[in-house]
Amino acid sequence: MKFELPPFVLKILKKFQDAGFEIYIVGGAVRDLLTKRFVDDWDFTTNATPEKIQKLFPDAFYDNVFGTVGLSHKSSPNPYEITTFRTEHGYSDARRPDKVEWGKSLEEDLKRRDFTINAVALKIQIPKSKIQKKKPTILDAEIIDPFDGRGDLDNKLIRAVGKPKERFSEDALRMIRAIRIAAELGFTFEEKTFEAIKANAPLINKIAKERVRDELLKILGSPNPYEGIVMFRSSGLMNEIIPEFEKTFGVEQKSPGRHHIHDVGTHSLLSLKNCKSEDPIVRFATLIHDIGKAQTYKKLPTGVITFYNHELVSARIAKAIAKRLKFSKKQSEKFYKLVRYHQFTVDERQTDSAIRRFIKNVGKELVPDMLNLRVADRLGGGARETSWRLEEFKTRLIEVQKQPFTVRDLKISGHDVIKVLRLHSGPKIGEVLETLYKEVVDKKLPNEKKALLARLKMLK
Ligand code: ATP
Ligand code: MG
Repeated sequence: MKFELPPFVLKILKKFQDAGFEIYIVGGAVRDLLTKRFVDDWDFTTNATPEKIQKLFPDAFYDNVFGTVGLSHKSSPNPYEITTFRTEHGYSDARRPDKVEWGKSLEEDLKRRDFTINAVALKIQIPKSKIQKKKPTILDAEIIDPFDGRGDLDNKLIRAVGKPKERFSEDALRMIRAIRIAAELGFTFEEKTFEAIKANAPLINKIAKERVRDELLKILGSPNPYEGIVMFRSSGLMNEIIPEFEKTFGVEQKSPGRHHIHDVGTHSLLSLKNCKSEDPIVRFATLIHDIGKAQTYKKLPTGVITFYNHELVSARIAKAIAKRLKFSKKQSEKFYKLVRYHQFTVDERQTDSAIRRFIKNVGKELVPDMLNLRVADRLGGGARETSWRLEEFKTRLIEVQKQPFTVRDLKISGHDVIKVLRLHSGPKIGEVLETLYKEVVDKKLPNEKKALLARLKMLK
């Protein structure tokens, strides 16, 4: 089979071959090449030991823990990874092999890999003739595929290599990797493989939360976030990682005369399905925006169901989830704010200053995502995408943002006040600016330098 390979990859292959080593392309790159996707992460395996690899590439860095040599390259944010053939023994803690030995053959190495579609290797003989330095070259590859990974790629199936139960209890990270890869590729599961995840789900707690976070955010950021989260849930992993979410299923919302048709959990999943943002944090916030409804549920004697202050409880849970999954400060703040303010009102009777307060609370940059969440929430509840109220609110958001937010947004500064009023610096300057700011906000004065200076002169 022929594949198009970039110059940097050919250079790596050639260097190993010239030095007399075996070298193969493996992992995600093979998956992507065989399914004709863009490859952005190249992995290689070789019989050369890390020391020998470092001799070939003196600039490479060596990660002692995983026995991987990384090569940085400008075409990719992640380094290309080269691993020496390995065999692994005796996983007693569900996350690390007790012993890693260098393997003698490619077959041995492929056997320790997680899924059949990840255990396919490409062997490419680089011809003596000159390879293109700047452009990709099309070359013939021998495909080594001992577990019929190609068959599973054709059938869009994730299947563990070897005995699924053993493979997941050896290394619990594989369970969430499986769902992430399924979500990225739009695949489903071979039955025994999925059953084995269900049986081993509690073991996910042995895995460092940073790794779980990375995989979960990849599931949410994939082309199939809804399907991914449905699998994450039906596998039992959701209940281990975010038990609060599981509690929202079966919480009814249907009140006489109200539009809600689904229980909270189902509504949350459908909101995610309808989320137009590709940002995993926005998608995640959309998924859990109502998570506090399980705790705030109240049914009145009239049959009306209320969730008083549920956005506050949801936001508190969001904060706890962010902490548990070790989100960065920036991720955590964004996640929290989206949940905290998702109940914003779009009532046409609210004042400009109420709208300004909303923008101040969520931050200007987050306003479009806040609207994304609202639209997803509406669609996920069976409503139309928008309403005249929401459209009017969007127009007012733009209008209000044209007005200054603080004294600092005025088109004149303290220096102007000092110059025009011939003042010395002191509290009086702030007071003058505050007066002008109020007049601008009350639309008595435009926020334009000329008009503001003219008004200043009147204060002399
Ligand atoms: P991507 O690069 O898109 O994240 P990938 O499958 O290439 O996907 P990597 O983490 O780069 O994932 O790993 C490269 C290869 O190493 C995998 O395809 C698989 O063969 C093997 N591998 C990675 N993690 C594991 C694991 N936990 N258990 C067994 N094999 C693994
Ligand atoms: Mg990879």
